[in-house]
Amino acid sequence: MEANDKREKLKEFYLKIRDCDRCELSKVRTKFVFGSGSADAKVMFVGEAPGKNEDLQGLPFVGQAGKLLDELLGSIGYDRSEIFIANVLKCRPPGNRDPRIEEIDTCKGYLMEQIKIIDPKIICTMGRFSTQLLLDTDKGISSLRGKIFRVGNHIIMPINHPAAALYTPSKTGVLKEDFQKIKRLIDSGGEISDSEEGISYLESDTLEGKQEKDEQLGLF
Ligand code: URA
Repeated sequence: MEANDKREKLKEFYLKIRDCDRCELSKVRTKFVFGSGSADAKVMFVGEAPGKNEDLQGLPFVGQAGKLLDELLGSIGYDRSEIFIANVLKCRPPGNRDPRIEEIDTCKGYLMEQIKIIDPKIICTMGRFSTQLLLDTDKGISSLRGKIFRVGNHIIMPINHPAAALYTPSKTGVLKEDFQKIKRLIDSGGEISDSEEGISYLESDTLEGKQEKDEQLGLF
């Protein structure tokens, strides 16, 4: 799809879902946080859920974790306008509690549709929730971060959530190293050789295949 068509489709999709009231979080949110960035991004970053600042501004990663994300992107020569940033949940869970399974199940179709429209080559999942959702696994983030997975047409690279590095500063070094690896992935157009970077495989359908299966089950 051409960049202009992607922009139009993404805007249309935003207008369609911005007043979502499919779950209880819609009753307590200030703003629906769709995501932001380029509709034609080659790289997409997926976090967990909006926090307080995101809920107030309607934009993803605008608090402290967002500041660190901007710095990390800057360290590899990128600006957030060149990528797309989204979350698993579009509305803030009260008190920033963890997303609940039923909330993820209700909301995940929105992220899948965003991925389908933007069709990024590389998807960096930040933290446990987006990683487990997109890799369809229940493995922990510490065993997955820094590895590269091929899922359909996409390459998925899990990294630690920036907020985790704010809580545990020793994780910042790992995050910086993982961003250097993201840069190598981007520079290679997602075509780095398996032997060079140790591509890992999980038994997983394509994201689109997974969505179709979930649709058949009436999940969204
Ligand atoms: N943490 C997230 O996972 N997403 C945001 O948008 C902000 C903080």
